[in-house]
Order: sequence, then C-alpha cells, then structure tokens
Amino acid sequence: MRTHNLGFPRIGAGRELKKAVEGYWKGRVSRHGLEGEAARLRACHWAMQRDAGIDVVPVGDFALYDHMLDLTLMLGAIPPRFSPSGAAASPAGTGQDIDLMFRMARGEAGLSPVAPLEMTKWFDTNYHYLVPELDADTAFAPDASPLVAQLREAQDAGFSPKAVLPGPLTWLWLARSVDGSDRFALLPALCDAYATLLRELTSACPPACPRGYSSGGLMVQLDEPVLALDLPQTVRDLFPAVYTRLRAAVPDATLMVASYFAPCADNLPVALNLPVDVLHLDLVRGRDDLDAALQVRGAGEGTPGLALSLGVVDGRNVWCADIDAGVNLVRRAVDTLGEERVWVAPSCSLLHCPVDLGSERGLDPEVARWLAFARQKCAEVRLVADAARGVVGPATLAALEANREARRLRAASPRIHDPEVAARLAAVTPDMEHRPSPYAERIVAQRAALHLPALPTTTIGSFPQTPDIRAARRALRDGSLTQDAYEAAMRDAIAMMVREQEALGLDVLVHGEPERNDMVEYFGGLLQGFCITSDGWVQSYGTRCVKPPLLYGDVSRPVPMTVAWSAHARSLTSRPMKAMLTGPVTIACWSFVRDDISRETVLRQLALALRDEVTDLESAGLAVVQVDEPALREGLPLRRAAQEAYLDAAVRAFRLATSGVADATQLHTHMCYCDFHDIIDRIAGMDADVISLEASRSRMELLDVFATHGYPNEVGPGVYDIHSPRVPSVDEMEALLLRAAAVLPADRLWVNPDCGLKTREWPETRAALANMVEAARRVRARLDA
Ligand code: GLN
Ligand code: ZN
Repeated sequence: MRTHNLGFPRIGAGRELKKAVEGYWKGRVSRHGLEGEAARLRACHWAMQRDAGIDVVPVGDFALYDHMLDLTLMLGAIPPRFSPSGAAASPAGTGQDIDLMFRMARGEAGLSPVAPLEMTKWFDTNYHYLVPELDADTAFAPDASPLVAQLREAQDAGFSPKAVLPGPLTWLWLARSVDGSDRFALLPALCDAYATLLRELTSACPPACPRGYSSGGLMVQLDEPVLALDLPQTVRDLFPAVYTRLRAAVPDATLMVASYFAPCADNLPVALNLPVDVLHLDLVRGRDDLDAALQVRGAGEGTPGLALSLGVVDGRNVWCADIDAGVNLVRRAVDTLGEERVWVAPSCSLLHCPVDLGSERGLDPEVARWLAFARQKCAEVRLVADAARGVVGPATLAALEANREARRLRAASPRIHDPEVAARLAAVTPDMEHRPSPYAERIVAQRAALHLPALPTTTIGSFPQTPDIRAARRALRDGSLTQDAYEAAMRDAIAMMVREQEALGLDVLVHGEPERNDMVEYFGGLLQGFCITSDGWVQSYGTRCVKPPLLYGDVSRPVPMTVAWSAHARSLTSRPMKAMLTGPVTIACWSFVRDDISRETVLRQLALALRDEVTDLESAGLAVVQVDEPALREGLPLRRAAQEAYLDAAVRAFRLATSGVADATQLHTHMCYCDFHDIIDRIAGMDADVISLEASRSRMELLDVFATHGYPNEVGPGVYDIHSPRVPSVDEMEALLLRAAAVLPADRLWVNPDCGLKTREWPETRAALANMVEAARRVRARLDA
C-alpha cells in the first residue's frame, strides 16, 4: 500500500512565488532568478511531502502562472494571435518560453496590444485557469521538455516522481472554440499529441527512476475531473478509445486516471474499465463510489489488475481528517483488492488549501489543534496508510491518539456551539424570508423616498485602494498607527470619495470600502465563529492569492460591522447613500467552512447575523443597502442531483438576510462573471429590488435571459469593464445602454460599472465614471425626446 499526493500548493508558505513572478514582471528579478526560486520551491515542497510520508511526489503540479496554461504550451496549442512578436523564444527543448507564457496569461499593452486568454473557474473551486483557445485549424506541436526537466530535477534530488498533467478529455472539455467549430473534432490530433508527450516523458525518465512502486516505467497521473460531471453520453463514450490510444503509446508506464470534486457515479463503470493501472477516486465528495467500485472489482470485473487510489483526506478544506474513518475505507478496499492494489491520497490536489500550519503566527491555539494544511494533510495520508496496514509503532499510536483527541476536543468545544444562535435559528418564521410587500409596491415607496432620475447612476461599492489606504492598514497591523488615527484616516478617505462622486454627478453614492482588505476576510474578522489566519494563502489565479477566513463555530454578530462607516458617509452628502455588505452565500463560498453541520445551517446562521446588520443600516438612515453575492453561481454543486438543494438554501439565506427592512428601503445585490441561464429563476427568487451585474464584455448579450424570463425587478447591467485600465468612451457606453434599453424597459435600468473599482487607479476611474454619467444623460435625453 503506497501513499501519493495529487498536487501541492505552489505559491510557497510565504507567497515566495508571487514575489518572484511579480518581481520578474517589474524587471527586478532576472529570468535566472525566477527559475532559481521556482526550482527551490519545488525542491522544498517535494521534501515536505516526502518527509511527511508521501511515497510518490507529484511533478508537473507546479506552474509559474497556471498548470492548464503550461499544458497548453507543451501541447503547442498556441493561438495565432500570440505568435512570437519578435521576442526571442527559447530554443526548443530547453524548457518553457516563459515570456510567451506570461503574454498568453496577461495579454500585452503597448503598440501591438493582445488580449490575454480567457480565464475562468476551475470546476467549483475559486482557482482560475486559462481557457485553451481553439479553432478548426488548431495544430499541436507537442514538446514535453519543460516537464522532463522537472522530472529530472526531482530524480536528481532523490525523490520518487510522478508526472502530473490534466488529461486529454478534461483539457478539451475546458477549452473553447473561437470559430464555432466543434472542438471535439480535434480529439484524434490531441490524442496523438498526448501520446508524444507521454513517450517523451517515459523515455527521458525511466532509467534513473526509482522502481519498486510501479509495474515498470514512470508513473503518470492524468487528471480527469470531468469524470465528476454530468457528462453527455457522447463524451463519456470517448474515454475508452482515448485511453486505449495512450496505453498503446506507453505500454510500460504506470498510468493513473484521477477523478475528483464530486462523485464519479454514472461515470464509474467507464472509469473502472479504462486500460490504466490506477484509478483515483475522491472519497470525501464521493463516498459511495468506493462501494460501487469494490463491487465491480470484487466480482472480477473492470480492468484486470486495476488498483484504486483512495482520496480519504479532504483536499478542499482545512480540518483534521477523521483518521479512523479513513482507515475503515482503506481496509475495505484492501479486503477486496489486496494491499498491492490500494493507494492512499488526499481527495484532490492540495492546491486548494494553505501550505503549512506551522507558519501560522498568532492563531488561536485551541482552533489550531483542529486544523491541517497541505503539509499536515500529507502526514494524515501517511497515518491512514500506516494504521490501515497495522504498522502501529509508538509514533503512529501517538499520532492516532492525538488525532482522536483533537476531533473530540473540537466536537465538544464551547467555542463551536452557541445556544443563543441555535435558539434564534429555531425561531425563524417563514415570513422572515419575505419582504413585507411585493416589488411593485415597494418600488413606489422607494421612488418616493429616493427621487432618482431615470437610468440612475451608481457604482458597485469599492473605489481604488490607494497606496495611502494600504499603508494605513499595514501601519495599524504593525502597531505604528493607533486605532483612532487609523479610523480618522479612513473617515478622511471616505470624505474624499464622497466629494469625488458628487463632483462626478453620480446619483447613488457609496462610501468606497477603504476599510476592507477583502470583502469576505473583513466580515470574517468581525463575526463571532470565525478566525483569520496570518498566512493561510490560497492561489486564486496567477499571482493573486486569497486568505479565506476559517468559519469554525456558530456565527453571530457581537457588534455592528459597517454601520459607523456608512453612517459617516451618509452624513457627508444629501444624495442617497448605498451601504455595502457581502452576502451569506459568498461569505460561505470564500471561507473554509466547518464540516460538522450542514451547509444550509451555516448559511442560515450567516443570514441572521447579516440581517441584524441590514436593519441597523436602515435605522442609521441608509436608504439603499447592497448585499453582494458574486459567488452564488460558483458555489453550485457540479452534479445536478445536488444543485436544487443548494440553490434553495442559497436563495432562502439571501432572503433571510435581506427581508427585515421596510418597503421604502431599497435592496440591491451584485453578481459578476457568471452565466445566469440555468439559474435565472433563482436570481428572480432572491427578490432584490435591483441587481447589478457584469455585462459589458458580452456586449449586453447577458440581458437576453433577463428579458426572455421576464425578470421583474430592476437591473444594472455593467457598461464598463473594470478589469482593464482602458477608459471607455461616452459613445461606447451610450451604445451599450441603448442596447440594454432595447431589451429591457428603460424605467427598470440602472447605469453602473461591471464590478468594484478597488483594483483601478483614480485617474482612469474618474475619467471612466465621468463618461458613464455623460452616457446616462445622453440616453435619458433620447428617451425623453
Ligand atoms: N462591493 C464589492 C466591491 O465593489 C463587490 C466586489 C465583487 O463583486 N467581487 O468591491
Ligand atoms: Zn463584482
């Protein structure tokens, strides 16, 4: 029985990779320096995994920006628009052309500008990959040398490596065809390209490869998380032929196919019959897959000799594993398959958790005992394997006892259970999930209270987080600024932003969110039941990392969180002021959430805490309150069977949070970068008075679904893409507004950017908003005429 890991976080415990890559972009770090740092991090991470007891370490899980992009480059599937612009490409076979890679990831400004590859969420995680861009003419030019180089690096340092790359069907499923051609028509050529990559990997590596863990040559893990989706039968049917082709290309390699993030369920029969050596199953999200798989294998069916890799340690959360439960699963598998055919692993790549609990500073020691980050999870995998094999020396026994004790303490901790929260939840009545009157009546009261023009202009909440604002926050953290002085600085920043908005002529103002480092972490820091880590960073995309708060206990709101800031902003102007909150679903999605109660209960606890905040804002005179839910769509479970329950709970939590206010108080929500087609009923069911959304990139196409569905309330389709410093012209935004007005009634339209302006600079923000306000004026005049 061997242990392996599917992937390790690459950013480094101190976000070293971020610093090196950003330094390279700014010219402060040389290419040599960047590659040296990358190699150092890889070696450090392999050592961490091996020392924790992982037998076979992943190679190829590392990436300077994104592992999907690295594979796209190795396949040579480079869209023509990125063809080298004079910059010297690396000679073939010497590793990656990192400048081309960064150009594809980030685009290029300047004289010959090029837009980056599209980026989107990796399944239901908050990790974003770069979408391969294909057309009917896409040709592949496979070159495995970057991965070969890393495999050699690992071998030379004495590690047992396993090459890891996304599998062909996942890569193709996640790719996009830009000319409307069927991307699956490329499958034969893609299989040839993969076969070449695999041959290059295995022929370059076996001689030095430490044997003993496989039947023969190099071990290769092909990630096929599409096996956890509701696949069309036509795509499912492609698996056998694709893997037969790859098997034939590298008969001596040990091939592993990995599925994760949801149950394999109806895809399991196909997976169990693939001509590979090992199938990895996510037993955290798909516990039932094990019984089904063992039944098939026990009956002597499925691929002869197929081993199972059991993902028993949660790669998506931070709580200590239940080692005894893992041991039981492993023993069941061993009973059927024998030790030789069982591998133990985390459920998925550990990319989605922080690196090392050991680097935490100042974490509450009681909570710290309940946690395991990537490094600790590797040790948990080892512990499960040792305990399952009955290899229980004193160290293993002590570790097992410590795990049981940690779980016992966590379950019994008074920090987790708050009887008042339970009582409040039990007392929730159905009418608390409904506004007092229907939208048609509320809007009359709101219009009377707000006196807004047609097509009112507003923003999504945040304004540029200037260096001054960030410096003040740092100074507060390191003690060089007092709380009073910090608050005074934030009040000044708010005053400045209110003046800016008045000068721009915006209709509904915001306070600008200067006091928020992050829209979820900020609330995590103020709500009871959460704690914040010092270094619990997780990669979101490229060099951008997030630090999800830990939601460990019953949630309540000891004191108002945002009221003073919003009330201050309101006192500075006679125009309507909109208060800003993050919604319950988004807080849960972007936190590490407890696993000992249902997600629905977590959402309802958050909703009640936010409900108090919403009504306090109303009492403080805020006539408009926005509750952001940008993560609502992303939290949708991958499998349809689980989606209805999630959407029910999500919509009800939003309504519980927002329904405590009077008719005249206008409730907004905001969502961005998501496809509304399959959830528009639920969006309508949230019953926000106004929803603002991203729409400029799709040139308002997104609105069609609101029109065809007869979405009843008001809509603010973004007219300005805030992800670029480009200032859109008045004409451009006017044209977008006219398009919107052609699809939806003009008296239900708002005018706003796509999202918050936190990442922008003031000069471009000012210019763009001035143009936006002017565009709204022009369209109003046209509609009047
Ligand atoms: N109110 C938030 C902001 O403006 C919304 C951010 C988001 O949608 N991600 O920053
Ligand atoms: Zn947004």
